[in-house]
Amino acid sequence: MKNFVLFGKPGSGKGTQAKHLSEKYELYHISTGDLFRKNISQNTKLGLLAKSYMDKGGLVPDEVTIKMLENEIKDNSKSRGFLFDGFPRTIDQADTLDKYLHSINMQINATIALEVDEKELISRIIDRGKTSNRLDDQNIEKIKNRFNEYNKKTSTLIKYYKDQNKFFPVNGHGSVDEITKRLFDLIDSFNPL
Ligand code: AMP
Repeated sequence: MKNFVLFGKPGSGKGTQAKHLSEKYELYHISTGDLFRKNISQNTKLGLLAKSYMDKGGLVPDEVTIKMLENEIKDNSKSRGFLFDGFPRTIDQADTLDKYLHSINMQINATIALEVDEKELISRIIDRGKTSNRLDDQNIEKIKNRFNEYNKKTSTLIKYYKDQNKFFPVNGHGSVDEITKRLFDLIDSFNPL
């Protein structure tokens, strides 16, 4: 069983690439952002809580996010492997994920980071906001807050995974197909899959 984290700043293409990767490598794709949005659209208590943070471009509290993530893993425990997209975003989330996976005899095999510069990211997010209906994509202050959250709380995970020899950066500039190929080449180079 192989488990990967797809890592990167908001707008770096994690969701788009996760679809290709999960299909090719038969991984169960878990996007915490998608799970929160699903809860919001279903008006659940969790959705209501998450919305109050997401609408401002802030992170949803760890305990809420971690519980949701664990439930999603449990509900799909027969999967061939997991592809985590947008999780972990804090050291506490990463630690809890490591401990939880360990307790069920699994581990993160690699964290793959899509690297894109912020100027390009802002234009991608604004573009996506024209069709995505996402409030957090449509306002420059919210977008900047998401980058701040990344820089304050998430970027420390680079060292966290580097220290475990599990961090693999990939150039996230170029066409979707070009980036997908880079990701496939990287994963195919991991031996054995
Ligand atoms: P995303 O779809 O990954 O860009 O996430 C959209 C928003 O959902 C983020 O800006 C956060 O408000 C929330 N969110 C998603 N994943 C997490 C997470 N792992 N921890 C905390 N908040 C999250």
